[in-house]
Amino acid sequence: MTVEAHKETLGFQTEVKQLLKLMIHSLYSNKEIFLRELVSNASDACDKLRFEALSDDALFEGDSELKIRIDLDKDARTLTLIDNGIGMSREEVIENIGTIAKSGTRQFFEALTGDQAKDAQLIGQFGVGFYSAFIVADKVTLTTRRAGMGAEHGVRWESAGEGDYTLETVEKATRGTEIVLHLREDDAEYAENYRVRSVIRKYSDHISLPIEMQKVSYGEEDKAQADEYEAVNSASALWTRSKGEISDEEYTEFYKHVAHDYQEPLAHVHNKVEGTNSYTSLFYIPKHAPFDMWDRDRRNGIKLYVKRVFIMDDAEQLMPTYLRFVKGIVDSDDLPLNVSREILQHNRHIENIRNGSVKKVLGLLESMSKNEAEKYAEFWGEFGVVLKEGPAEDNKNKERIAKLFRFASTHNSDNTQNVSLDDYIGRMKDGQNKIYYITADSFAAAKNSPHLEVFHKKGIEVLLMSDRVDEWMMSYLHEFEGKSFQSVAKGDLDLGAMEDQAEKEALEKSANDSKGLLERMKTALGDKVEEVRVTHRLTKSPCCMVVAEQDMAVSMQKILKQAGHEVPNMKPTLEINPEHPLVKRLDAETDEDRFNDWSHVLFDQAMLSEGGQLDDPASFVSRLNELMLSLTK
Ligand code: ADP
Repeated sequence: MTVEAHKETLGFQTEVKQLLKLMIHSLYSNKEIFLRELVSNASDACDKLRFEALSDDALFEGDSELKIRIDLDKDARTLTLIDNGIGMSREEVIENIGTIAKSGTRQFFEALTGDQAKDAQLIGQFGVGFYSAFIVADKVTLTTRRAGMGAEHGVRWESAGEGDYTLETVEKATRGTEIVLHLREDDAEYAENYRVRSVIRKYSDHISLPIEMQKVSYGEEDKAQADEYEAVNSASALWTRSKGEISDEEYTEFYKHVAHDYQEPLAHVHNKVEGTNSYTSLFYIPKHAPFDMWDRDRRNGIKLYVKRVFIMDDAEQLMPTYLRFVKGIVDSDDLPLNVSREILQHNRHIENIRNGSVKKVLGLLESMSKNEAEKYAEFWGEFGVVLKEGPAEDNKNKERIAKLFRFASTHNSDNTQNVSLDDYIGRMKDGQNKIYYITADSFAAAKNSPHLEVFHKKGIEVLLMSDRVDEWMMSYLHEFEGKSFQSVAKGDLDLGAMEDQAEKEALEKSANDSKGLLERMKTALGDKVEEVRVTHRLTKSPCCMVVAEQDMAVSMQKILKQAGHEVPNMKPTLEINPEHPLVKRLDAETDEDRFNDWSHVLFDQAMLSEGGQLDDPASFVSRLNELMLSLTK
């Protein structure tokens, strides 16, 4: 078989076609970023080679000086980017350059709006990568060979970025990847030495390998010296430099490289620890949640380096799950170079680094919350729900994490989550010693819950929680700064000193007076309720539902049931407001059947306003209709 026989034409995955089209149209105002993307890939490829060569020196093939080279040809209008990194096998080329394997791809395409400005933002979050070459090139030729394979295993991939690409087997003497961009006529500037240099300095100065270009002598920009190359970047790992020497732009470009993000980060923290355990960390908080935030297989969290050598992506031992939005690097001086994921799991250096890293990130968030309220609000909007997993996962830092929480509250008129627990405590009433909250499955359900009536009357603030994670989170959060949390929809409501003697006596009297009614209702409702009792929570509604202190909120029970989970049968208590005209009317009802119907309707109503689910909705409707009809008689 000849080498030619291997040439074949393959179609791009549909998503790749969509992505290419979108990218060429939406990124044309910032074309130069293609260089950053390709250099970033080349640098990753060299990192991978260096790592694999730790256990197999032969992969270096006698050339261990890793570098990136850029060649320009003005006449042919080409830009060629060469790396001596790991390279790709034929299968890898098909997998990496013909398809998008990223998790979250489907969500990404669903999120597209057709509005170019908005879609350009989205594409940034998704990461443009290799395909960005087509922003400036109408043909791309990639030739690659995996390190350690024979020269005859070279692969040439070529495409005009439309429907398909060709693939052929070629001879390639050196390992690594060479990408030739055949520039569009309008983009000829990327074949000019000074232009490309300035782009490299702008975006890729932090790349730790040398990026070499042909030397140009002063006054002779056009005449590159054929064989003389020089590094055009500073080629030192950014994090090894001291903070004072690194500009914001450099931090930002480094972020885009490690996080594969196209947008600027929200904040960063760079830290060097020296002593028995020496390491450097550089962490970033992104501006936007990635599409795959809830995907268990997502990658690209924290990169681990040992003594400047890249070891692995997504070292999940370095950051707890509730901080999974953090991106960045850790470079340890103490770990062995041959460290594996297994070793990381039980390593005391890692344990120390992780504890220190959590402290740094929480500290960064704390200072942001104090000094940059708007930024913090942005953070909270994107990642608050993730941080709420903290109390369950990180008992040690529970209080610190809780201090970072922001809630919607009856203190606000809308659903903005901006009330901290400290704000709440600062506004507590005389005699109040609990932090009151309610959980519901929507903000409206929380805000309009009958349970809040007495709190409105007394002017006591209640936190309104309607994120799905809230009910679960609160089961791990029992107190904050010595004040315990109390759900207003659970247990016996104890307003303590905030209820005066007269109110207590009135309640007792009304309970005594209503004894007969309470018993009749309990008989009518039977097993549906634990108890029927007189309330002191309500001022406007006839009744409400209360679950026991340790039980799950009614709305949560519904969510679990709908998700097909088994929910233990928990009997709620029905609390009634004897002052309400409907309850008074009920008390006066002598027809037992009608009393019965009426009691059930009240019970079902209480269940509905609690966000619960009726066991028998049809009966509720027919009873209600009966009652409405009786009004017309
Ligand atoms: P990303 O870099 O976000 O993974 P890309 O589309 O840029 O997405 O690249 C896809 C994959 O192709 C990379 O993850 C890598 O495996 C491979 N790749 C790209 N460029 C190179 C290169 N120069 N050398 C080796 N592999 C590469």
